Amino acid sequence: MKRVGAHVSIAGGVENAPLHAKSIGAKAFAMFTKNQRQWKAPKLPALSIDAFMNNCIEGGFKPEHILPHDSYLINLGSPDPDKLRNAREAFIDEMQRVESLGLILLNFHPGSHLNSIDEEGCLKLIAESINMALNATTSVTAVIENTAGQGTNLGYRFEQLASLVEWVEDKTRVGVCLDTCHLFASGYDLQTNDAIESTFKEFDRIVGMKYLKGMHLNDALRPLGSRLDRHASIGKGTIGMEAFSYIMAHPACEEIPLILETPDSDQWSSEISLLYSL
Ligand SMILES: [Zn+2]
Ligand SMILES: [Zn+2]
Repeated sequence: MKRVGAHVSIAGGVENAPLHAKSIGAKAFAMFTKNQRQWKAPKLPALSIDAFMNNCIEGGFKPEHILPHDSYLINLGSPDPDKLRNAREAFIDEMQRVESLGLILLNFHPGSHLNSIDEEGCLKLIAESINMALNATTSVTAVIENTAGQGTNLGYRFEQLASLVEWVEDKTRVGVCLDTCHLFASGYDLQTNDAIESTFKEFDRIVGMKYLKGMHLNDALRPLGSRLDRHASIGKGTIGMEAFSYIMAHPACEEIPLILETPDSDQWSSEISLLYSL
């Protein structure tokens, strides 16, 4: 089964995320485990954790269908040693929050070189950060998201993702989340069936399809190769519907979270229906 969902709100507590997801007809969901604009947060209360787990069971969501996202403040490749230390601490805390919820995936953007170090040096710092976080936890897989390549963000080429995977020591706990808007913005064409097929083949050749642990389904506002991260609602952007039909039929996309991060949350339930109708 395909598991389409959306990045839902945790307003009022993490336990509300599976309720929101169920209410829009989702079969997967993404969420933050704390306010994503803050570095630190108190531990999740036991009551919230219990309610979260119960609501997941009632909603039919298994841990492999839930894709928590870390805070956007974290730069695991920061060239500044103090900021890097803070980022690593915050990332380990995020991983531990995910574990405390009984979940097994954490999705994050790799990091930015900020024009202070070269790409390879930054990728090495990111891989080291991932290794540290995996050593500090036992069961969470680090799911690296491809980026649009905006600014100095890395992870916009499959070769960069492959280097990170290569340098992570525990290959059983590293994966990739492909965001369609980011793929398109970074120059991977998805507009026709042939185009997305060759993009998927290239991903398989360079990174390996077995590492695909989730996808973000977003249309794009800007043209191919814009390097700008601007999401559009499904079918309302520059990617168009063929890519989403391809994904909804692809065996590698079975039973992994396929998450909408499209701008209009009022449209999510109709976007989910639209995707299932393909
Ligand atoms: Zn995304
Ligand atoms: Zn984005």
